[in-house]
Amino acid sequence: LRSHDSDQEPGRVRVAVRLRPKNAEDCPDADFADCIELQPEMKRLKLRKNNWSSESYMFDEVFPESASQKRVYEAVAKPVVESVLDGYNGTVMAYGQTGTGKTYTIGRLGSDDVSERGIMVRALEDIFANTSPDVDCVEVSYLQLYLESIQDLLAPEKVNIPIVEDPKNGEILLPGAAVVKICDLEQFPQLLQVGEANRHAANTKLNTESSRSHAILMVSIRRSSRVQEEKETDNKDSNTRSASPSVPTVRKSKLLMVDLAGSERVDKSGSEGHSLEEAKFINLSLTSLGKCINALAENCPHIPTRDSKLTRLLRDSFGGSARTSLIITIGPSARFLAETSSTIMFGQRAM
Ligand code: ADP
Ligand code: MG
Repeated sequence: LRSHDSDQEPGRVRVAVRLRPKNAEDCPDADFADCIELQPEMKRLKLRKNNWSSESYMFDEVFPESASQKRVYEAVAKPVVESVLDGYNGTVMAYGQTGTGKTYTIGRLGSDDVSERGIMVRALEDIFANTSPDVDCVEVSYLQLYLESIQDLLAPEKVNIPIVEDPKNGEILLPGAAVVKICDLEQFPQLLQVGEANRHAANTKLNTESSRSHAILMVSIRRSSRVQEEKETDNKDSNTRSASPSVPTVRKSKLLMVDLAGSERVDKSGSEGHSLEEAKFINLSLTSLGKCINALAENCPHIPTRDSKLTRLLRDSFGGSARTSLIITIGPSARFLAETSSTIMFGQRAM
């Protein structure tokens, strides 16, 4: 077993910031300079507020535009995946304004270019490389959380899936959600594609954009291994160990990978086509996530996970013995200074 949390205080959320490369929408922006300067080796980000002042912020990781998908995966998600393989729960989330690279970072399939594969695909590959089909079981569910309602992206007829907490062990269960057993790694990108198509269809029907909902991929692992229990004998020579008969053990753990809704302020007037109710709920789940992250950072005995469906869903995979990574994504342009600044402040609440 790898040592758990060797480089992380238990329960604390690790926060990385990733800067998206400039794109066509930033470039015509002659009036707006870049507002971000990164010092990756110092794990520092500078935000230029105007010509005279800038503010510095520290993160666990700082990824410049040039950072590859592989590097981001290895620094941010792989430790969580390894901990899940060791039997702990874990969560990897991407938070940021729409258009800054959340889906690229978390959900990119990379069908045409394998170097572009995002965290979901790489995590499944790592899990598959470390499990064996005769003793282990890998199952996935794929859900969308929109306006405090959970829809199944693998079985779109299922809406309003409840969140239930097992009174025995506090495990969070989603009774009724489709659970697909993955027997072959090839199956997985197809499953994500089906989920994406269902997400698009559901959002068209609801007349909303996918940026308004959270996409949640839940990967459950059951590992049954026959562990050769080692017992120290009473023998004075402490190096002598005797093997007792092998004992079958089952370890259950789960990994949540979450592509959060866009963090941009939703116009309360509804002028952007959002109803007042939508605005309220979108802000509710992200606000409540921020409060939980903050409570973890401050070592509060009580983490307020009951305030929103998002945080109720995360409850057993967040804080405590679970390992959590948050990637905040930002763009370079000063045009979005206010949003970028608010994203950075969200990340700072965990530090
Ligand atoms: P979000 O999910 O936050 O709305 P996307 O992931 O859809 O943002 O990214 C917006 C656009 O920027 C997409 O065209 C995406 O391919 C591109 N993009 C985002 N991050 C990167 C990156 N690190 N490298 C290259 N292209 C990127
Ligand atoms: Mg997206």
